[in-house]
Amino acid sequence: MATNTSIEWADKTWSPIIGCDKVSPGCDHCYAISTARIREHNPNPKISAAFAGTTERNEDGISWTGKVNLLDDRLTEPLRWKKPRKVFVNSLSDLFHAEVPDKFIAHVFAVMALTPRHTYQVLTKRHARMRSLLSSREFVALVDDHREQLQPGCGDFAWPLPNVWLGVSVENQKWADIRIPALLETPAAVRFLSCEPLLGPIDLCGPIVPGRGRPKLTYWLDGRPGWGPEQTDDRGRVFQRLAVGPRLDWVIVGGESGPKARAMHPDWARTIRDQCAHSGVPFFFKQWGEWGPAPFIVRVCDPDVGWKGTDEELAAAKGDSEARGATHVHTGHSREENGERRYWLHEIGHKPWSLERVGLPEGTAAIRRWGKKRAGRELDGQVHDAFPA
Ligand code: SF4
Repeated sequence: MATNTSIEWADKTWSPIIGCDKVSPGCDHCYAISTARIREHNPNPKISAAFAGTTERNEDGISWTGKVNLLDDRLTEPLRWKKPRKVFVNSLSDLFHAEVPDKFIAHVFAVMALTPRHTYQVLTKRHARMRSLLSSREFVALVDDHREQLQPGCGDFAWPLPNVWLGVSVENQKWADIRIPALLETPAAVRFLSCEPLLGPIDLCGPIVPGRGRPKLTYWLDGRPGWGPEQTDDRGRVFQRLAVGPRLDWVIVGGESGPKARAMHPDWARTIRDQCAHSGVPFFFKQWGEWGPAPFIVRVCDPDVGWKGTDEELAAAKGDSEARGATHVHTGHSREENGERRYWLHEIGHKPWSLERVGLPEGTAAIRRWGKKRAGRELDGQVHDAFPA
């Protein structure tokens, strides 16, 4: 089934695969599980069959079963869409999941090759399989076979496909260090990052060199300088030109939504925004998610003395401070330690309160639970909606 989407950076989703399992902390509150669970019980038998067996109820609530449904009837949907679209591929699974056969993935790429009017956004957490598959000649030949089956005599095609953007999800530095190098080694016309849910600070400067730390040159955003491919001149002499290696072409940042959402420190988003601006890489701020910045913190009594009034008076005092835009829920701190900036988010939802405005130490951010809609999409008063050219 293809649907128009509320995802801010796509026009449509195309989901020929349903079902997944979790691979890293960014998956902890995967929204696709509850979507799949609801559709498993859809009264329309065609919809419920597409989702059948993909979720289960257990002691953790609702989880994926690991079953992956391959929906052949959805494979050719984009061939029928006349109007050019930005299509997010597989919003309810991962295209490079181990249970998806190479042949099926090749079929997806064949359809994308035959519809250059659409731009496809493929996002994965299975970076290793994406890299090995898309770098393999056998796989490209498989894509070609499927093209011929779908449209005999369709002619040559370019690889990597110019209308396919490949991305990896990275939620913190650990997964950035693992997934970004794999993405840069994968043939792609456009490479992008989805830092959502952003669960920690990420430095996009490049990989850590053992014993020497993180380099100052931003290889991931600017490309690593080096020698280009070997070429031959008119006289048959082989030479190489200086070239810049692959780089990230687009970065998306977003906080987590949903009842169990984890808060994103505003400095994590700001740092990525500033690194992208420095390197001229388009930056897209998708959302704050459940938690967003609060204007200031209010205490409703002296911490040394404690609250002396009634519970009703306390509730009124809290309500009054909240009505004025204050928070008393979360603060986030950051501090330099051994040359590195460390971050903390901690809850201060306890008594006592004070009605005085509290000065915040440097690096501290006041955050509160607004709900996704109210938290909005502005970062320091600005909407960031940039796309790759
Ligand atoms: S990879 Fe994506 S679809 Fe799969 S569990 Fe993680 S967040 Fe959900």
